[in-house]
Amino acid sequence: MSSKKACFLDRDGVINEEVNYLYEPDKVAIISGVTEALKMLKRHGYLTVVVTNQAGVARGFYEEKDIHAVHARIEKLLDKDGVGIDAFYFCPHHPEFDTECECRKPNAGMLLQAAEKFDIDMNESFLVGDRISDINAARNAGCAEAYLVRTGHGTNEIENKDVSGIEIVDDLLHAVRTFID
Ligand SMILES: [Mg+2]
Ligand SMILES: [Zn+2]
Repeated sequence: MSSKKACFLDRDGVINEEVNYLYEPDKVAIISGVTEALKMLKRHGYLTVVVTNQAGVARGFYEEKDIHAVHARIEKLLDKDGVGIDAFYFCPHHPEFDTECECRKPNAGMLLQAAEKFDIDMNESFLVGDRISDINAARNAGCAEAYLVRTGHGTNEIENKDVSGIEIVDDLLHAVRTFID
């Protein structure tokens, strides 16, 4: 059996509008173009894998069950449009509040876990994120490409940090079109 290709997706600011420490399902708003992007990924045989840092757990702002509720809401909203996410991975840790871990981006842990479980070929896979730490997670995991979007924290990252050498696109849909075409 040949290995699969994947699109790794940051969650907040890429799929749903950035809300600081989002944990309430009714505050989920899907960013425009996401449905079309997910359809295009499916059509081209890409697994869609969310990889999201959720340090709000380590900070005591919310619990893991809240993360699951947000993911259920995202799936419900996407399902209405006939699309979905193949897997959700989250890191609940923060080094200052609980423990160092392998999963918190820019570490590659979540991507590598998914690669192992789904037999993903990193050379055929890419990531879309709104923070430089997302891009570095993709690089640490050996992804073929990583795109920094202008949605979510993206614009702020682009204006205030060194983004030389990073591919910048407007949003998820543009990232998908750029990689696939
Ligand atoms: Mg984000
Ligand atoms: Zn972690």
